[in-house]
Amino acid sequence: MISAPVAGAGRTIIIGAGQAGLQVAVELRQAGYAGAVSLVGAEAAQPYHRPPLSKAYLTGEKTLDALQMRGEAFYTEQTIAFRPGLAATSIDRSARQVTLADGSTLSYDHLVLATGASARPLSCPGHDLAGVMTLRSLEDATALKARLGTARHLVVVGGGFIGLEAAASARKLGLAVTVLEMQDRLMARAVGPDVSQHFAAVHRSHGVDVRLGQGIAAVIGEAGHATGVRTTAGDALPADIVLAGIGVTPNTVLAEAAGLPVSNGIVVDEAQHTSDRSIFALGDVCAFPAPHGTGLIRLESVQNAVDQAKVVAAGIMGQQARYQAVPWFWSDQYDLKLQMVGLSQGHDAVIERGERSANRFSVFYMKAGRLIAIDSINRPADHMRGRKLLAPGAAPILADAIDTHFAARRD
Ligand code: FAD
Ligand code: ADP
Repeated sequence: MISAPVAGAGRTIIIGAGQAGLQVAVELRQAGYAGAVSLVGAEAAQPYHRPPLSKAYLTGEKTLDALQMRGEAFYTEQTIAFRPGLAATSIDRSARQVTLADGSTLSYDHLVLATGASARPLSCPGHDLAGVMTLRSLEDATALKARLGTARHLVVVGGGFIGLEAAASARKLGLAVTVLEMQDRLMARAVGPDVSQHFAAVHRSHGVDVRLGQGIAAVIGEAGHATGVRTTAGDALPADIVLAGIGVTPNTVLAEAAGLPVSNGIVVDEAQHTSDRSIFALGDVCAFPAPHGTGLIRLESVQNAVDQAKVVAAGIMGQQARYQAVPWFWSDQYDLKLQMVGLSQGHDAVIERGERSANRFSVFYMKAGRLIAIDSINRPADHMRGRKLLAPGAAPILADAIDTHFAARRD
């Protein structure tokens, strides 16, 4: 029989060397973890920041060097056995062993699943033509960037964050851009209708052809290359690049094969434990208890990955920690910094302050008279204050106190 893992020592394997996985390694060493740490990453690159992939990296304003999270020396200095370019292929929970793609095995006392998510590909006719792309990894971004350099027409399928950031970047590079969004508004998953409407207007003012309520019926091609698309409304559009920004699916295959519960993500409790006490999951791949006891949610953000990493490291160190952070997220499109804090779903009223015409305003989302979330456009002080005021345990802000807390402030 295998003994219970010793807190603060033993062998920890982290699968996935992205935002969440690397952060767990960093936090463990910062907390004085005395055990061995292996960081196994399927990608060949050193761990890197994904957010610039659709923004400054795509436009050429940031280089590859600027994306790296840590210098190469960091892994040796911190005694983190980093294994790049090597996927984990299976987990044997009874033997507490992980098998890697080269056939080697590693034993663990604590296992951390930080396998992230993969971009959903298109499935319509023509989806396999050259020029039909997704944007999740450095490899994807590098390939897209190379094509943007020579292409003239970009059709983006999906008006979420990735699609709209890529659209803004491509406009900066001078391409003609169309965005097809099958819902009746942009970024519907994350922001309220007023913010969606504002961003549609901003994209249109920058020359993007934003088509709402439309999806893609087929990619048209010649000699194996995309040359256009047919929309679900029956329109034909030219396209040298068709970028799918239609969301992601969590990378749960390993966990499922190991018999761990999965429900749109690896199911964890508030301490990031899976159903197996020696296995944690975090970041884009995990489904965790929603803050107010309304089932499980999965978030895709740097904040979520970083804050959950603190909880996982504390758990490995034998401390009692619970994930309770207020969610926040940002998106850069043109000269607009959109910052979101809290979760606005289920709001029953909104209060808006600032000047829409100057691209500086915040929307405060209320539920039963209490503030639950804020979307800010170029009003970073509202966002930062919101992060404090919406933090777990903070006193609720009532609708009539919004001006006291926010509107009088100058950014
Ligand atoms: P990932 O960063 O996806 O890392 C998971 C890693 O695990 C990957 O490297 C993957 O290859 C690896 N892996 C998977 N399976 C295996 C296996 N079997 N063996 C070994 N390794 C494996 N968030 C924000 O907050 N703000 C933004 O502005 C923003 N912009 C973004 C722009 C883009 C283009 C993208 C793609 C994402 C953006 N995000 C943004 C989201 C943010 O990057 C993610 O939420 C964050 O990277 C999640 O971290 P993660 O470690 O959970 O997953
Ligand atoms: P991401 O973070 O990848 O941008 P989101 O979930 O925020 O993902 O956004 C994806 C967007 O793509 C959503 O607004 C969704 O309505 C849209 N979408 C999904 N499938 C299609 C499709 N076939 N055609 C057009 N839009 C789509």
